[in-house]
Amino acid sequence: MHTDCTSCSMMSHDRRMWREECGVFGIQAPGQQDLSRTCYFGLFALQHRGQEGAGMALGDGSGINSHNGMGLLSQVFDDEIISRLSGHVALGHVRYSTMGSNIMENTQPIRGEHSSGPFALAHNGNLLNAVELREELHERGIEVAGTSDTAVLTAWIAACKEDTIEDALIAAMHRCRGAYSLGVVTPTHMVAARDPQGVRPLCVGRLNDTGWVIASETCSLHTLGAKYVREVEPGELVTFRDNEMDSIQVMDPERKASCIFEFIYFARPDSHIYGRSIYQSRVRMGHMLARQAPVEADMVMGVPETGIPSAIGYAEVSGIPFGEGFIKNRYIHRTFIAPSQRMRSLGVRMKLTPLREAVDGKRLIVVDDSIVRGTTTGPEMELLRGAGAREIHVRISCPPIKFPCFYGVDTSAGRSELIAARMTREEIRKHIGADSLEYLNLRNLVKAVGLPKHNFCTACFDNDYPIPVPEDLMITKFDLEEETVPVASP
Ligand code: SF4
Repeated sequence: MHTDCTSCSMMSHDRRMWREECGVFGIQAPGQQDLSRTCYFGLFALQHRGQEGAGMALGDGSGINSHNGMGLLSQVFDDEIISRLSGHVALGHVRYSTMGSNIMENTQPIRGEHSSGPFALAHNGNLLNAVELREELHERGIEVAGTSDTAVLTAWIAACKEDTIEDALIAAMHRCRGAYSLGVVTPTHMVAARDPQGVRPLCVGRLNDTGWVIASETCSLHTLGAKYVREVEPGELVTFRDNEMDSIQVMDPERKASCIFEFIYFARPDSHIYGRSIYQSRVRMGHMLARQAPVEADMVMGVPETGIPSAIGYAEVSGIPFGEGFIKNRYIHRTFIAPSQRMRSLGVRMKLTPLREAVDGKRLIVVDDSIVRGTTTGPEMELLRGAGAREIHVRISCPPIKFPCFYGVDTSAGRSELIAARMTREEIRKHIGADSLEYLNLRNLVKAVGLPKHNFCTACFDNDYPIPVPEDLMITKFDLEEETVPVASP
């Protein structure tokens, strides 16, 4: 997708306007040596979910050893640090700053001190009532260090009067509103929990019959040779202690609402969510696009990397050959760009090079996962024209993004920055310099994923927010005047 979140991975790519969310990985493996290294490898598979900060916390039976830092995992951890972190249960996190600024004290896992002992918490999602919880703590004389919603949640759990960390988490689940897939580590064990809608993914795996793993995506399990067991269900709290896994269904899921964008863009193609392959779903999006929006052309190409599986799918159904039109520079990890269009264009050039030999004189179908702001698709099309493309037909494997996300994807910009909220399809086509532009419609998108629509959050396409959004947040992200929406009194 053309997301480009505040702290995101790379590029000027418009897709980076929406940063991915975060990645959580945990492992409980008594007796296993070098657990911090295993945790590092598990996290490494999730690096695409967050590149601004990373951390690990290990329980060693009596306390917690942790290390957090800013940047990529390879910048935060070296061999010496990993060797120093010992324990039999570990929790790790990679971060984008979806809420709170990109500062060291917001890196995770965040440590807290509950009456039952120390703990550390790692979170993927976005709490909608974090401000309210912070105020509640303030009234009790507790100030929260850090500006993120996770810092607030950690402080809230630490201050909770319940006797055990599990009961404190259950109380927090009843109190929090929003999206949260989280892990907690104590000196002795690990706990995982998911909001009642299950917006962000979280799965459980088994390692060598003696260990348990939790991960935002199944690709982490494959890396370690762990076996997928199941998802942490919406509203469920799962405890891993010694070799046992215990589950409590804390809240009944009112309405499942898995983020459909995981299938379009966020998740790695080799991951599965609810048994659905991300890669196959993207290929099927291409099948659907080819049926819904056919056009005569000489070659189908994808914008690397997320657009490629859908381009392959488009080629399969249309019978038009698939080819590589862009070469991606694999070594760019972070966009240093930003504000000006000139710098964005330069960013695109650094990241993508058109393959003249493949595109010169051709009528191209260019498949991409999404257009968010529309700031990078234009420069990409210019590159292809400059390399001799005769016609460019853009096909997008999701519907127009017209509404902001409040559930853990950082639409740092307000709604007015979403190009499809401001322009018609024809205006966008002209803006990006394409000969034609078509989007996959929502019905076909859902069909491609292969589960009924009521399982998904699709709010950024259809304004159907599965978890009510506080009005003050609406005002901010919808770029409304304060008078437009009545704000609830504090
Ligand atoms: S609004 Fe819903 S579908 Fe869109 S990115 Fe956010 S959680 Fe995902």
